[in-house]
Amino acid sequence: MKHDCEGNPSITNYSRGCRCDLCRSAKSTYERERRERANKKANKAVPKKPAGKRDNPVVFNDAYSKVDIIRANPHLDWSEKERKQAGV
Ligand SMILES: [Zn+2]
Repeated sequence: MKHDCEGNPSITNYSRGCRCDLCRSAKSTYERERRERANKKANKAVPKKPAGKRDNPVVFNDAYSKVDIIRANPHLDWSEKERKQAGV
């Protein structure tokens, strides 16, 4: 006999056999989220190259590189070499 969720659509009721519109949409939402999770996992497994500019050969641990800080604060007392690196 066909299962009826009786107004409580859910992925569980879908798997029990209810095929009302809301259970079907719950199922498709579930499938989409599952796919998105799987994609996220796949992206993590194969780290993509950083999309940002990587023209600075010096690697800093902080979120901002020194060049970024110099560019954001060009009025500070940077050395000529630092200014040249930052292009300011
Ligand atoms: Zn249903």
